[in-house]
Amino acid sequence: MSGSIRVLVCGGGIAGNAVALQLLRAGIDTTVVERANAPRPGGQAVDLRGPSREVAERMGLMPGIARHRLDERGMVFVDARGRGRARMPAEMFGGEGFIADIEISRGDLNRVLLDEIAALPAESGVLDYRYGDWIEELTQDDRTVRVRFASGASSGFDLVIGADGLNSSTRAQVFGPREQFVEYLGAYIGFFTIPTPPGTGLETGWVGVYPVPGSTVAVRPDPNPATSMAILSTRIPADDSLRGDTAAQQRLIRDRLAGSGWVVPSILEATAQAPDFYFDEVARVRMPRWSRGRVVLLGDAACCGSPMTGMGTALAITGAYLLAGELAASPADHTRAFDRYEELLRPLVTEIQKGTEQQVRLRHPETARGVRMTLAVLGALTSRPLHPLRVALTRLIGKQREYPLPEYPR
Ligand SMILES: Cc1cc2nc3c(=O)[nH]c(=O)nc-3n(C[C@H](O)[C@H](O)[C@H](O)COP(=O)(O)OP(=O)(O)OC[C@H]3O[C@@H](n4cnc5c(N)ncnc54)[C@H](O)[C@@H]3O)c2cc1C
Repeated sequence: MSGSIRVLVCGGGIAGNAVALQLLRAGIDTTVVERANAPRPGGQAVDLRGPSREVAERMGLMPGIARHRLDERGMVFVDARGRGRARMPAEMFGGEGFIADIEISRGDLNRVLLDEIAALPAESGVLDYRYGDWIEELTQDDRTVRVRFASGASSGFDLVIGADGLNSSTRAQVFGPREQFVEYLGAYIGFFTIPTPPGTGLETGWVGVYPVPGSTVAVRPDPNPATSMAILSTRIPADDSLRGDTAAQQRLIRDRLAGSGWVVPSILEATAQAPDFYFDEVARVRMPRWSRGRVVLLGDAACCGSPMTGMGTALAITGAYLLAGELAASPADHTRAFDRYEELLRPLVTEIQKGTEQQVRLRHPETARGVRMTLAVLGALTSRPLHPLRVALTRLIGKQREYPLPEYPR
């Protein structure tokens, strides 16, 4: 089928690389343009939950994922002195609780996808992977999409897939300004690698979570015991001046967490040296349509639910599977393929995006009293007498995650 249509994928994150892999497998010539100069490392553990587990299996990613799978055994909520107040082993909610039963770091999952792309057989579509470049200008008519890249090159494509994340410029170029679609949910979140702080009190493979008024601090184990991953989130009004200003983001973190207990002083000391500091708004993307003409959006660009949902990667990979499957099924009728993709994915997105504001509030009690109450409630919820309630909750989660995936020819 090679040469039937030419697709440009904008963004080489999980969504972009997953859709590129499936398109190439279907014999569709694919160009990927990624603004960074190389694959972007970093990112915390991402969960493969619900249908994305099945998608990863169908895409043949499981052997690669198994090689990088993180040893995460549970989550423990701690107080200022590091005393465990509520323990949630990974299996507590059937692998669908705070810790999913398949966790892999975002950078490693991206590597698995790139390795699969590199290993494609000769009969696959032709790949053109361009790092360090992005779309400067995009115009479309009913026959083609003309693109001028920042590098100066120009080219025509049959279709463009915008997989360039929460702050997508494809979305801005084709659908309208960011403010029209991105909804701030009341908090910022940062992820970065730190030297493992002394005195966490954490058992091997356990994630520690320490709520303080208005913020939450977590330490996740790294495959390398010398390092850990820090996750800090804080509830404040939106502040546009933080966007892209790493020094201001780190200052905010220091101000918000000054004087906190547990291992927070060590984390704050390590923040400025973090090799992979990532900080962004907790935000949701809601769009009435994900396609316009020959351009379609995928992953966070289309339907970010925020890191609070733990489902960003699941949506990216499931959406990529559906979009590529539908395009391969009707390469000559992109309108039908885009409509089917949207019809299939939207119910899952609607379900996942529900109630995120409440989650943000629940995870960031404002006062010391609120923090004490949260720890007490979590302690009760995870206690032995409430086992029947957990069984009922697990069933409910299972029901919400039931999602019929269409089969596509391999
Ligand atoms: C470095 C990094 C670390 C992350 N860490 C976490 C984490 O720890 N926890 C979490 O829940 N989520 C994290 N995320 C977000 C998470 O990856 C996504 O929610 C999810 O995987 C969906 O991915 P996506 O491919 O749609 O978007 P993204 O992962 O944001 O990928 C978008 C890609 O597009 C590229 N890009 C952006 N603009 C352009 C442009 N104009 N032209 C070309 N390329 C462009 C970006 O460099 C990036 O590689 C992280 C994202 C990144 C980029």
